[in-house]
Amino acid sequence: MESVSRRDVSRRAVLRGAGGAAALLAGGAVASAGAGSAVAAPAWSTLQQRMSGQVLVQGATGYTAVAHGYNPRFDTVWPSAVARCVSTADVSAAVAFARSNALPFTIRSGGHALTGWSTGTGLVIDTTLISAMTVDPATATATVGAGARLIDVYQKVASAGLALPGGTCGSVGIAGLALGGGIGALTRPWGLTCDQLTGATIVFADASVKQVSASHWPGLFWALRGGGGGSFGVVTSLTFRLRPAPTFQVWSMPYDMSAAPAVVAGYQTFMATADSRLHGELSFRATPSTGKTSLTVTGTWIGSAAALTAQLDALVAAIGVRPNARTVSSQGYLAAMLQEAECSSYASCHLPPQGTIPRVPSAGASTMVYAPLSPAAVTTLVDRVRAGLAVPKATWTGCTVVALGGAVRSTTTADSAFGHRDARLMLHYLARWSPSTPTLDPTPFDGYVRGFRAAMAPFCGTGAYVNYLDISIADHGAAYWPGTYARLRTVKATVDPGNLFRFPQSVRP
Ligand SMILES: Cc1cc2nc3c(=O)[nH]c(=O)nc-3n(C[C@H](O)[C@H](O)[C@H](O)COP(=O)(O)OP(=O)(O)OC[C@H]3O[C@@H](n4cnc5c(N)ncnc54)[C@H](O)[C@@H]3O)c2cc1C
Repeated sequence: MESVSRRDVSRRAVLRGAGGAAALLAGGAVASAGAGSAVAAPAWSTLQQRMSGQVLVQGATGYTAVAHGYNPRFDTVWPSAVARCVSTADVSAAVAFARSNALPFTIRSGGHALTGWSTGTGLVIDTTLISAMTVDPATATATVGAGARLIDVYQKVASAGLALPGGTCGSVGIAGLALGGGIGALTRPWGLTCDQLTGATIVFADASVKQVSASHWPGLFWALRGGGGGSFGVVTSLTFRLRPAPTFQVWSMPYDMSAAPAVVAGYQTFMATADSRLHGELSFRATPSTGKTSLTVTGTWIGSAAALTAQLDALVAAIGVRPNARTVSSQGYLAAMLQEAECSSYASCHLPPQGTIPRVPSAGASTMVYAPLSPAAVTTLVDRVRAGLAVPKATWTGCTVVALGGAVRSTTTADSAFGHRDARLMLHYLARWSPSTPTLDPTPFDGYVRGFRAAMAPFCGTGAYVNYLDISIADHGAAYWPGTYARLRTVKATVDPGNLFRFPQSVRP
């Protein structure tokens, strides 16, 4: 454990070109340096001496390759330095250094934060290289470094015949995903990723290292299960409960847009009481360049193809309109996860240079839906999908309607900070544009997804998924964590009363 001396704390230094207000806008945890403070370069060499991993400052070889996260719309934000931590001790050294120098800092694992808040103009404490994983088949558990990407976690646990509920995109970081929830194909069958968490290693604001579980720091353990990343400390490893890997049926049914009202109505009614082994979502897309909209009902089923046939027959009957086609393919767990991620192979299912997952500029937002969508709400949803055709320069826009329920309701808010246990659906609004013009003015894209969310608010309220961070949400505590925010604040006040770990939508002490 590395302690912080009083002398260090009083020696306030501010990053070159990183006034507090600018750093806050750029995102990430911000130490107490104010705008207009005296500028003094921190002694990066001191941090380097305390770390086994590299500290890459602007201009250093290799800096550019690690400066940014997943979304290239934020590539204009340049950190002063990236601490490439290779161990918990490195993270501890970086936290102590940031704190003692009053440096603005951000925490990054997979770098997929929709707002870009895992990168800022100060120090990035990067856990990407802490990615080692161990699987214990005897206890059916996996301990995973915070820097591991979803596809690598899937591959590792699948090699032991086991599986973990995760998300869709293979390059998303396990840390950010699990700390905020984790919604994917196994959510309705087995629960959220955070529901499988049994322990974590975390570096506190005083740079001490704590092992957290249901019996050690139980309040913090509760908070790490859905309370979101970045508010309590830097998590360096996570231990998950696994289950035997099932056989998946991956299915898809395209519909004409003219059937959209019937599809939404039938789907939401059917999924409200459907067998929890059935995962399903509605994928609406609008492509301005072609003037076309599309609707596909997709999902997975754990079990036999014959049993799925009965499920899909019943879903189609509830919709009352036959789809244009029905495709089903039987897959093992890893193959199903690759297909969900739209990857042709495990090797390619990584960001460049290791793989071929593109870094795509995007805007996103979400709504958690508790009551059945009324006919007026469905009409609004479909109208908003069509309105995406008018978003200039978007490659596509749209909305994914994800059915929750099932095992999400098996864990209560007494056991987990995830705030939306009773939500029926999640609406995820997206606008993407070309990677060749990543720093295009994002206003029309942000305007589209925020307008969509605002249009649905009269019907659905303002609940949102914390893993789809949204800077336009004013009361983020109420939106992300209805019913659990007060307790999250109590945990925050206990473990980080000085609010070292903070960003625009972190948990307030
Ligand atoms: C293309 C894409 C696909 C997605 N698909 C899904 C999906 O299918 N299901 C789903 O549930 N979500 C999905 N998400 C959302 C995703 O879960 C969140 O963006 C998540 O926060 C990403 O985690 P990360 O580690 O990659 O991101 P980061 O940007 O590294 O971190 C996200 C947040 O967590 C904090 N944080 C990161 N690492 C740590 C750490 N080690 N300790 C403490 N705090 C930390 C960061 O400061 C930041 O606030 C998707 C996002 C994208 C961009």
